[in-house]
Amino acid sequence: MAAVFLPGNLRDEATCSVCLEFFKDPVSIECGHNFCRGCIVKSWKDLEMDFPCPQCREVFSQKNFRPNRQLANMAEIIRLKVLCVHPLLGEDVGMEMELRKVIFF
Ligand SMILES: [Zn+2]
Ligand SMILES: [Zn+2]
Repeated sequence: MAAVFLPGNLRDEATCSVCLEFFKDPVSIECGHNFCRGCIVKSWKDLEMDFPCPQCREVFSQKNFRPNRQLANMAEIIRLKVLCVHPLLGEDVGMEMELRKVIFF
């Protein structure tokens, strides 16, 4: 966690595959994939019985997810680190995306 430059896999682990943002209130579902609570709730909103994982498409019969506190902390740390590097860009999400490209790619 001490490195300023985050390895790609760490970035991926802190990024929701639905909204491509850092996790907000991350939850784990049964296949082990993680999403923002809002993203998984939204993607399952109109479904009644089969609930596919947005990432691996494994289908579940129930809306089961649990908060992933460890991931929430990690996403927060990474977000803070990004904002610390460029505090002037902190509030602007669009700029934050650009900034992330600069830092990570
Ligand atoms: Zn998301
Ligand atoms: Zn999955």
